[in-house]
Amino acid sequence: MFDLILRSDRVVTPQGVGAHDVAVSGERIAAVAERGAIPDGSAARVVDATGRIVMPGGIDPHVHCLWHLPLPDGAAMLTDPPAVVSRAALHGGTTTMIDFAARQEPLPLKEVIARRDADWDGACYCDYAYHVMLLGDIPPETVAELEGVIADGYPTVKIFTTDITPSRRGRMVHFGDIWEVFKAITRAGGLGVIHAEDNDIVMHMYETLIREGRVGFENMAEVHNALSEDLSFRRVLRLAEAENTPLYMMHVSAATGVQAIREARARGNPIYGETLHQYMLYTSEDYRRPNGQIYHTYPSLKSPADQAALWAGTLDGAINCVATDEICCTLKVKTIGNRIDDTTGGNAGVEPRMGVMYDEMVTRRGYSLERYTDLVSTNAAKVMGLWPRKGALAPGSDADICVLDPSVRGAVRAEDLHEADYTPWEGHAITGWPAMTVLRGKVVVEDGAFLGDPADGKYLKREVPEAVRAGPGL
Ligand SMILES: [Zn+2]
Repeated sequence: MFDLILRSDRVVTPQGVGAHDVAVSGERIAAVAERGAIPDGSAARVVDATGRIVMPGGIDPHVHCLWHLPLPDGAAMLTDPPAVVSRAALHGGTTTMIDFAARQEPLPLKEVIARRDADWDGACYCDYAYHVMLLGDIPPETVAELEGVIADGYPTVKIFTTDITPSRRGRMVHFGDIWEVFKAITRAGGLGVIHAEDNDIVMHMYETLIREGRVGFENMAEVHNALSEDLSFRRVLRLAEAENTPLYMMHVSAATGVQAIREARARGNPIYGETLHQYMLYTSEDYRRPNGQIYHTYPSLKSPADQAALWAGTLDGAINCVATDEICCTLKVKTIGNRIDDTTGGNAGVEPRMGVMYDEMVTRRGYSLERYTDLVSTNAAKVMGLWPRKGALAPGSDADICVLDPSVRGAVRAEDLHEADYTPWEGHAITGWPAMTVLRGKVVVEDGAFLGDPADGKYLKREVPEAVRAGPGL
C-alpha cells in the first residue's frame, strides 16, 4: 500500500520525460512505473496530474537567510529568517536550499555550525544545508579542522577573493590561505564554492569612480567588471588545477567568466558554473530603471553580450545551475543604498525562480524539460553531493516533487508571492507555475494552500561524489 500516487503524461525522470505513475511510501519514492500500471486502489491518495509536469523539487544552492546586512548609516540588520524564505521556496516548487555557515569570529568550525543549527532547527519548512564560509585570515588550525568537517558531511567551502566593497573589509581570503584551503579540500574530498573577483581591480575602480564623483549605483558594472571576473577566475582556476581541487564558481556574471570555466573544463578540470536568474534576464541598463537597485546583486549586472554568454553556457555545460543569491528583505532596505559602495546585494527570488525560468527556458527558448530540470534542480543535487537522494524522481529518492501547471497564464505580482514586499520580476509573464509541492512525501503546497510545518525541514549532510571531483562530471 502506497501513501500517494502522482500520475502524469509528463514525468521528468533520470531516464527522460515520459508517462508515469510515481508511487510514494512514507518519505521516499517507492516506484516509478508506466502510467496506469499501479492500480488506484493501491494508494491512500491518487493525484491525476495529466497535463501537468511532475518533476523533482527545485534546489537553490545559494541563499542567505539571517544574513548580516550592512546599511549605509553604519547600522546593520539581518535578512529574513529560514521560516520566511523556506515557505516562499515551497510555494515556488523548491524543496531544498543551501545557505552558509560563516566563520565571522575566531571560533572552531564545529561551533560555527552549531550556532547556525540553533537558528535553523525546527525553523525551516524545507530541507536545507550550509556551505562552510571562511572569511579573512585562515589560521592553520582552521585548515586542519576543515578536513574533518568536510568528511563529516559539510563538504562545500565558500571563499571570497574580494572584500566586495571598501566598507566590507574582512571577507577576502588571501591567496596563500586559499592555497592551503584548496589542498585541504582536495585531501578531504570537498568542493570549493567561490565568489571570485579581482580585489585590486575592484578597489581601484572604487577609488577611480569616487574621485570622479560617479558614485551612483548605475555605474556598478564599471566597478565589478568583466575584466575583474576574467583575471580572478583564471587565477583561482589555475590554483585549483595545480591542486586538483574541484570548484563551483558562484554567480558567474560575465562572458569572461563563462569562457574561463569552459576552458578549465576542456582541460579536464572538475569546474562547475552557477549563474543567477537576474543575471540571465537583466543587464546593467536596468540599473537606470526606477528602483534599479532591485535588479542588483554583487558582482554586478553586465552587458547584453555577457548575458548571451550566460545563456550559451547553459547549453554547453559551462553553466550548470541557476540560483538566486537570495537576500530576503523589504523594498525599503533593498533600495536604501544608492551608491556603488553601499547598495544592498542579493535578491528576493526563491519563490518565482522555478516559474520564471520555466517561462524563459521552456516556453521562450524551447529548452527540453530535462534541461530545465537539470538547471533548476538535478545539477545542483549532483554537484553539491545530494544526488540521487535529491533532484531525482527515482525509486529510493526522497519524494520531493514539484507539480508544475503549464496552463497557468498571467504575470508575476509581488502581492501573490510570500517573501519580500517587492519582486524584481514584477510583471514578468507566467506560462506555467508550481501547483503542488511535496516534501519527503508530505504535500506542503496544494493550489495555493500552505500545509507545511517549520519542523518539516531537515538538515542534509552531504558527500561530493568522486565522479564530480575527478573531472567535469556533468
Ligand atoms: Zn551570495
